[in-house]
Amino acid sequence: MAEVEMINEVQTSERVIAITFDDGPNPIFTPQLFQIFSEVQGRATFFMIGEQMAENPGLVKQAAALGHEIGNHTYTHPKLSELSPESCLAEVEGNEKLVQELTGVKPVVLRPPYLDYSGETLSIMKEKGYPMIGALNTEAQDWDQPGVDHILSVTRKCVGNGSILIFHDGYGDRSQSIKAVRILVKELIEQGYQLVTVSELLKLAGNKE
Ligand SMILES: [Zn+2]
Repeated sequence: MAEVEMINEVQTSERVIAITFDDGPNPIFTPQLFQIFSEVQGRATFFMIGEQMAENPGLVKQAAALGHEIGNHTYTHPKLSELSPESCLAEVEGNEKLVQELTGVKPVVLRPPYLDYSGETLSIMKEKGYPMIGALNTEAQDWDQPGVDHILSVTRKCVGNGSILIFHDGYGDRSQSIKAVRILVKELIEQGYQLVTVSELLKLAGNKE
């Protein structure tokens, strides 16, 4: 089997799903997600941007304290394929340093901005030990505000054991994303899914019992 470049799901027989949020933290939308996940004792993964963390350090600490995972989404959200190896490394390590300062631990998963990467990006991440995390429901395009119904109908088709789902809690008005996630989370819990972090999901990979 060819080497997997981007992880969009893991194979597992366990009823688990990892919901992820990009581009935060955001003072309006991120706390609403904390609330939604707290109500169901679920955990999420927030792929945070360094610049956003620097502006909202309290939300980074709160996410970690609530048991959510903070993933690396670079410092300034560039297209990594367009950067020199040095700049790419600086983007990743700048984020890493800030997460460590604020929470005491380094991020261990990374999502490249725009899901954009080159072969060079891949080898840098491999060297750094970062799995690159994609998602199954990218066609929901929640970042474009296509309507709550569209976000939900596309995403529901991607629900299954080991799925990774993407939404956004930063950059612009994210109220559609929040509304969709509120409905989706309720449905998933009713269907018996446990909401886990990406790292927790990766540990279950291949666990078919
Ligand atoms: Zn992003």
